[in-house]
Amino acid sequence: MTSALDIFAIAAHRDDVEQTCGGTLLKMAQRGHRTGILDLTQGEMGTRGTTEQRAHEATEAAKILRVAWRQALNIPDGRVENTWENRLKVARVIREQRPRVVILPYWKGRHPDHYTASVLGYEACFAAGLAKLELTSAVSTQQSAVSHSGEASGGRDAGATVSDQALPLPPHRPFKIVYATLYYDVRPTFVVDITDQFEARFRSLMAYKSQFSDQEAGKDLFPAEAELRSRIEAMARFYGMLGGVTYAEPFLQKEVGLVDDLLAIPVKSI
Ligand SMILES: [Zn+2]
Repeated sequence: MTSALDIFAIAAHRDDVEQTCGGTLLKMAQRGHRTGILDLTQGEMGTRGTTEQRAHEATEAAKILRVAWRQALNIPDGRVENTWENRLKVARVIREQRPRVVILPYWKGRHPDHYTASVLGYEACFAAGLAKLELTSAVSTQQSAVSHSGEASGGRDAGATVSDQALPLPPHRPFKIVYATLYYDVRPTFVVDITDQFEARFRSLMAYKSQFSDQEAGKDLFPAEAELRSRIEAMARFYGMLGGVTYAEPFLQKEVGLVDDLLAIPVKSI
């Protein structure tokens, strides 16, 4: 399928991807790969801004990161739950977009939405590959929005009954799942050099004007832009240092690395 995504980042909130792996997505797009972002929630619980503002800002950020596809599901913000219904929602998108690589949030963290999104994403990737699980393409996001109550705790097959016009989606399981670890203090198994993408990634985050521009609302919760910039730079520098480059983003893979040529292994030892 020509429209399949090469790399697909799944995260709980709009702006999570910009903070944790936006530079990597931009780098991959610059290399000619097709990238996408699925935000699980629409941000209705945020202290600042409306969901409409955030949707507009997410589109702007996606343009800066040269993302080919971006959508937000309607899972309630602040209560991302790993239910069968939510897994099917994500699995349906995985079958539609057919990514080879999926980037998930790391499975530990402060915000329950983040670590839940990790497990939910993993189990959705697994479910998407089950040959006997019938899933049909959603007719529209609005339709799945009204069908979702947020109350379901699993067991109900909401995926196969969206509409009579919906098309069956063939099974698909991503080849690779990696975890973006920036929100959690854990040693990454690899970092991606984003030295050339750092400025654009920062601009993509600043596209969320309702969240990050200096303002009165939530002043105690949100750092001012200058402070935010130095924090983000410090993190990128730290992970860059681990990889022997200026700026980098951290990732973790559960599998071991496979090496073909010892002479080609990057990152100096001493
Ligand atoms: Zn978040």
